Amino acid sequence: MIIELKENITKKQLEVLSKNTEAVYFKAKNNYVLVTSSKVKTIVPEIEKLADRITITDSDIQLAGKKFQAEKRTISIGNIVIGGNTKHTLVITGPCAVEDEAQIKQSANFCVTTGVKVLRAGAFKPRTSPYSFQGLGLEGLKLLDKMRTEYGLKIITEVKDFSHVHDVIAYSDIIQIGAKAMYDQGILKACAHTQKPILIKRGFGSTLQEFVQAAEFILCGGNPNVMLCERGIRTFETKTRFTLDLCGVSWLKEYTNLPIVIDTSHAMGYAYGVADLTRAAVAMGVDGILIETHPTPKTAKSDAEQQLDFDQFSSMYHSLHKVADAVGYKIV
Ligand code: PEP
Ligand code: MN
Repeated sequence: MIIELKENITKKQLEVLSKNTEAVYFKAKNNYVLVTSSKVKTIVPEIEKLADRITITDSDIQLAGKKFQAEKRTISIGNIVIGGNTKHTLVITGPCAVEDEAQIKQSANFCVTTGVKVLRAGAFKPRTSPYSFQGLGLEGLKLLDKMRTEYGLKIITEVKDFSHVHDVIAYSDIIQIGAKAMYDQGILKACAHTQKPILIKRGFGSTLQEFVQAAEFILCGGNPNVMLCERGIRTFETKTRFTLDLCGVSWLKEYTNLPIVIDTSHAMGYAYGVADLTRAAVAMGVDGILIETHPTPKTAKSDAEQQLDFDQFSSMYHSLHKVADAVGYKIV
């Protein structure tokens, strides 16, 4: 149950109510909001008299659900606006990881010349093997910060564990929570305490319910700026790296109010399929797409097989405008 309290409720009244109802609470723009388990269905008079609006929900997809808010949330990344009724599809690209200054400069320069406004690259890489390149860490974040200043780009970079979550929050314009970090409560709660946009990736073994409930941790902690990113799930198929769950995207569009980004690179795992998949993703009418590019994919220190070179990206990028146009969206 979501209880939007009247504006004049004191902190003391709020704390008593929260204790009595076993609810979490956060401060919205003008008032406090209490959220109990969705199992609570009865409205007691004590609550009714202090509330402006009460929403009884069917599952613990509550703040992210259409029943609470039918319109899609709007998210601003500086002067870039997505979601709401903008019908914008934001393009995000860059390498899997920041490897050195020359590589990230080439990537930033490519974004600017192509018209892409958001540069992605990981500084803390959640690798499957401890012997693989783990990322440049803080040094990588500082290089990204430099790209922001020199090229005027917005930066998205991933957080892998709690130890560096505050650094990532400080340096990025969008915080990416990696697929393997989707369940990390420390990260989710830290991301709830900022107002910066969060892009949360679906764990590759996570149901849609679990995925959206992870987003709920951020929403009910007071950060309304959450986007969901479908990046492929693990199925019985082994020929492709993962399976891009576009059915899941339709479900998320139908039942949640969160902007949706599709990452085709990690789903496919191979450069050859990324252009087709990205066109399919744009045709879904989504709020963003994320594609890995690298100046020289063959030499990439992580995800070498799936990264597009700049020519491959450019020819795909030009075709996206027509696809977006066909479904009433605009590439931004
Ligand atoms: C990435 O974006 O480079 C990445 C590691 O993605 P994911 O968390 O989806 O595997
Ligand atoms: Mn990657």
